[in-house]
Amino acid sequence: MYYRCVTRGCGFAGEADTMPGRCPACGGPLRACREEDLTGENWTNMGLRALNQDKDAEKAYRYLQRAAMQGDLRGINTLGWCLETGTGVAADPRQAIWLYNEAREQGYLPACTNFARCKQYGIGTRVDLKEAVQGYRYSAMAGFAHAQYLLGLCYLYGNGVAADQKRAAVWFRRAAEQGDVGAMARWAGCLEFGWGVAAAPEQAALWYERAAAKGNVFAQRCTGLNYRFGECGVKINAKEAASWFRLAADQGDLFAAYNLGMMYLQGEIPGGAAQAQPWLEYAAQRGLRHAMYRLHECLLQLGKVEEALKMLRTAAEAGHPAAQARLGYYYDVGWHMPANLEKMIYWYRRSAQGGGVLCLNNLGLCYQRGRGVEQDAHKAAELFSKAADAGDPHGMVNLGDCYLTGSGVGQDTARGVSLMAQAFEKGLVSAGDTLGKRYERGVGVSKDLEQAVVWYRRAAGKGNADAQYRLGRCYERGDGVPADAGQAVDWYRRAAEQDDAHGQYAYGRCLVHGIGCQTDPAAGQDMLSRAAAQGDSAAMCELGALVWTQDPARAVDWYRRAAAQDDCPAACRVLGDLYRKGELVTRNLRKAAEYYQKAARGGSIDAMYQLGALYEKGHGVPANTQKAYRCYLDAYQAGSSAACWALGRCAQEGRGTRRNGRQALAYYREGAGRGDGMCMYALAQCYFTGRLVPQSLRQARLWCSRAQAAPLEIGQQRAVTHLQHLLDDAAMQK
Ligand SMILES: [Zn+2]
Repeated sequence: MYYRCVTRGCGFAGEADTMPGRCPACGGPLRACREEDLTGENWTNMGLRALNQDKDAEKAYRYLQRAAMQGDLRGINTLGWCLETGTGVAADPRQAIWLYNEAREQGYLPACTNFARCKQYGIGTRVDLKEAVQGYRYSAMAGFAHAQYLLGLCYLYGNGVAADQKRAAVWFRRAAEQGDVGAMARWAGCLEFGWGVAAAPEQAALWYERAAAKGNVFAQRCTGLNYRFGECGVKINAKEAASWFRLAADQGDLFAAYNLGMMYLQGEIPGGAAQAQPWLEYAAQRGLRHAMYRLHECLLQLGKVEEALKMLRTAAEAGHPAAQARLGYYYDVGWHMPANLEKMIYWYRRSAQGGGVLCLNNLGLCYQRGRGVEQDAHKAAELFSKAADAGDPHGMVNLGDCYLTGSGVGQDTARGVSLMAQAFEKGLVSAGDTLGKRYERGVGVSKDLEQAVVWYRRAAGKGNADAQYRLGRCYERGDGVPADAGQAVDWYRRAAEQDDAHGQYAYGRCLVHGIGCQTDPAAGQDMLSRAAAQGDSAAMCELGALVWTQDPARAVDWYRRAAAQDDCPAACRVLGDLYRKGELVTRNLRKAAEYYQKAARGGSIDAMYQLGALYEKGHGVPANTQKAYRCYLDAYQAGSSAACWALGRCAQEGRGTRRNGRQALAYYREGAGRGDGMCMYALAQCYFTGRLVPQSLRQARLWCSRAQAAPLEIGQQRAVTHLQHLLDDAAMQK
């Protein structure tokens, strides 16, 4: 049966077995009627309800046909739409535009707009942009919002008219103010980026959110972005952002799905990688390369290494430069795959070609070191230069180094320094520390401690822990700045607070010895332990010295642990001493020799000397005077004054070298001049016996008394005292 609403202007009608009690549209009374009594408006309403509520397209089409037969314009227009889109009937674009035209000729604006749209896109007719714009303009001027929006688009893209952002903005605004959702999103864009109107980001945010609330997917994504990153003057609100992204993602927006996944992955909302995975997967499977790359990170976090690598490869093959760079890096270090320099280079190259800036620098390093490619300093510099031009601060630092050292480019100190400074300004704070080190050591620049301090201070001020430690050391030693223990401690402390092992060691040492601060052994020891826990061998040695008296066994343990860290020379030297003397450990000359060897390789001068002594006496090693002489010479060249005495003896007695009295005397004199007690003793003996020099008891006595005042080991003291007795006897016999 049919029925309709009796309220004037309601137009509700329906077809059902039983009639509802009241009109669902206005609540008024309903009355049964005959089919032929229903008006065109009634049929149209029934058609729209069948379309939108019942989702019964075929029934809708039947009703709309009846409406059209009765000449209802809205019915004709909607019937056209069914034929255009193939809803409830096979699509027939020619019939559709014919229907639009029928309603259009009677001045129905939605039909005018649809007719124009057919002209724009060639639906059921030839494309005619002029006519399309004309149709839009007619409806737009008459106030029809959707036509205003479409006309705005024509102005924006220059379809059928000259492109004109200002006019586009005007039409978007009019349509938006009338509630057209598409236009709202566009108008928001105009306001955000200042297209054809003064930029007003906060207004833009409002319009985005209005359009988003009305279901516009693009606006939902933009609103989500505003809440996620605090753009357009919106306060960051992760929960709000996530809910907008979810709405858009549910409607198939890949970027929204990607953003939602990233919010989970980066902990902006609770859920972690497990929650992130399905959203990133959704976007990745539909071809969003960013999502593929991030999905690989997400899978790694979930411990699904194999899947992660597969995804990374997919992203790399799809041309994502960061993914290509990462894959190259995995091949570089052999991470979960056999290292393969050829493949490393392949992926670095592809990434660099695709605009992966980081790879330019990586590739440069490959050429610099000859890794996977023929070493080529020119090519390296060229790649660093490209990276620097692209704004990569790592490229700037490396190119800067090339200029400082003249590698692959003409040496140009000023340019090198300026590139490093640029990298520092770009936010790569470690560049300041690097430049400071160059000045401190005089590498590529002339050594300049004051400049070193300038750069350490800049980097330290920006929180670089390395630079803080080094600046502290400059203050402690008075390098390039007046010595100031208080300042030194302050900078050490700041580095230590950042968990920097060097800083913790230095700060701990200051606390233990009261350098620039109140002595606080407990706090100092704690600091040193923290540095030691990070593998700082200097801190371990310091701890060894600190517990030496209370707990010798632990002291030895600390030295052993320090020695295990890359053969720490200081610790190896101490252990060599302990084994040589049998102090705290069982005497073992073989072990002593081993430790001295390690310490000597690491540059310990004392160890070089002691090793010489072991070779000379054949203690712990087969006796070998030539090797002994060689060790002594190494120690001497590294600045040991004790070695003067040993070399003097070798030369005097022809041990491990040719006998040469003059040379021997020169060594003794040099050592004595540098305060070495045994050289003084040797000179005293020469003067006493008249060997190498004319005998002189007066000179002998003079050198002997000097030797007694110098620091000597116990055995050596005994020798000096013995000589003194002989000299005293000689004086009495006179
Ligand atoms: Zn009604």
